[in-house]
This record gives sequence, structure tokens and C-alpha cells, in this order.
Amino acid sequence: MGLLSREIHCTTCNFEGNAKTIHKGSLAVEIALWLCFLAPGFIYTIWRMTAGKYSGCPQCKSERVVDLKKWNERASNRAA
Ligand SMILES: [Zn+2]
Repeated sequence: MGLLSREIHCTTCNFEGNAKTIHKGSLAVEIALWLCFLAPGFIYTIWRMTAGKYSGCPQCKSERVVDLKKWNERASNRAA
């Protein structure tokens, strides 16, 4: 949670609709790090919670999305 769902336009696959919060990295790596070394596991968890999280396209998981509202504004500016 944390990020409010927002409508986006994906510049990669042209998906339009609600963005999805996607986590980079994998839970398996996180667990392995926790089991082997406590400190790296902790750092990896923090990384995934902060830098490894982004609001992206639910279809192709691209980060290259723009706000649907802004996209439509830009599109109507172009048309005018
Ligand atoms: Zn996409």
C-alpha cells in the first residue's frame, strides 16, 4: 500500500488505466539473504521497500508511465 492507485498511460505498451505498485527484486533472494547474513538481508529489505518500489504498468511492468490526466492534457495541447 502507501501509493494511491492512479490512472496512468504507459509509454511502452500504451496501456491506460490504474497503475500497479510493483516490487523489484525477489522475495526468494530476500529470504536467502536473511537466512545467510542478517545485515544484507536487512539492507535488501529496506531497498525493496524504498528504491525497489515503483508505480508502473500492470501489463508490461514498465516504469515508463505518465499520469493519464497529464497524457490527455498533452494530447489535447497537440491537437489544438
Ligand atoms: Zn505497459
